[in-house]
Amino acid sequence: MSKRDYYDVLGVSRNATVTEIKKAYRKLALKYHPDKNPGDKESEEKFKEAAEAYEVLSNEKKRARYDQFGHAGVGGASRQGYGEGMSMEDIFTHFGDIFGGHFGFGSGFGGSSGRGRRRVNKGSNLRVRVKLTLDEIAHGVEKKIKLKKYVACKTCHGTGARHGSSYSTCPTCRGTGQVNRITNTFLGQMQTTSTCPQCGGEGQIITDKCEVCHGNGIVRDEEVVTIKIPAGVAEGMQLSLSGKGNAAARGGINGDLIILIEEEPHKELVRDGNNLIYDLYISFPDAALGVTTEVPTVDGKARIKLPAGTQGGKVLRLKGKGLPDVNGYGKGDLLVNVNIWTPKHLSKEEKHLLEKLQKSGNFKPNPTSQDKSYFDRMREFFS
Ligand SMILES: [Zn+2]
Ligand SMILES: [Zn+2]
Repeated sequence: MSKRDYYDVLGVSRNATVTEIKKAYRKLALKYHPDKNPGDKESEEKFKEAAEAYEVLSNEKKRARYDQFGHAGVGGASRQGYGEGMSMEDIFTHFGDIFGGHFGFGSGFGGSSGRGRRRVNKGSNLRVRVKLTLDEIAHGVEKKIKLKKYVACKTCHGTGARHGSSYSTCPTCRGTGQVNRITNTFLGQMQTTSTCPQCGGEGQIITDKCEVCHGNGIVRDEEVVTIKIPAGVAEGMQLSLSGKGNAAARGGINGDLIILIEEEPHKELVRDGNNLIYDLYISFPDAALGVTTEVPTVDGKARIKLPAGTQGGKVLRLKGKGLPDVNGYGKGDLLVNVNIWTPKHLSKEEKHLLEKLQKSGNFKPNPTSQDKSYFDRMREFFS
């Protein structure tokens, strides 16, 4: 089957910009997505075709090769291109770039992966832990992280071949990438197929290996990666950046970078989902007379006014002063627990004054339902 022109597949002109190509692919991918067309073989083929075209045209180097040599420049000739070997899994791996910005939260399109035989090398995933303050979580943050990882060898551009060297068909598998073994069993002859040990399934071998990477196409290096962490992430969440992991040997696709979120505890605020909790202590005179005071929030201090006769255990809800939801569903609240501070040491005079107050009938507790603490009310609610 001869292949369609990649520009025709995406329906863009030959001088389309990267943005136009991305847009066209996004449209096609959504239209022919297997989740939308379950069991429809034709849609699946169209979906794969679009992914393949996008894979080449979105990459400057590959696009240039394609423009010059056509399909032979990016596919069949080396068998390391993304040609027909691009599995559904590979396509979904690349979805991260197209859908929902940089991040995928491990849900969504992943379900259909793993079908089809993989012929493209994929680099291994890299994992890093990122510790964030509550302030960074509240506002989102950009982090620069230095990674030690495998990158494509610059000397041979990831091919593993010395400059001017060429590929030849693997003599062991004669280019098929697979070897068949016939074994005699009591049931007769059995044929088993396995990946060719000489070429690793690529069907080709390099006649002259690159001296820097010894033919692997990858070298150990350091890379500084800038990662955008959205607001509202939580301890234990994983973000995955597709293609930012280790490079694959000899021109496959990169692995992913998995970022594990850790939270640094805040000095004063405690997190409960998207809500924040603050324990406020006020003096007994302040509670009795009323007071204006400040509470910490993730956006600096907030002033709150407590009326005369405020009871300990009261919970104030500052709407929208919590953390933003990671999926964009609004913001949590800041819950201020009011506690009355009882002095631990008293002077003679203070003791004398308090003894007088102790005798006053007005100071005997006489709670109404209004004065009950949040937790008492919750208990009532659930009982
Ligand atoms: Zn071979
Ligand atoms: Zn090299």
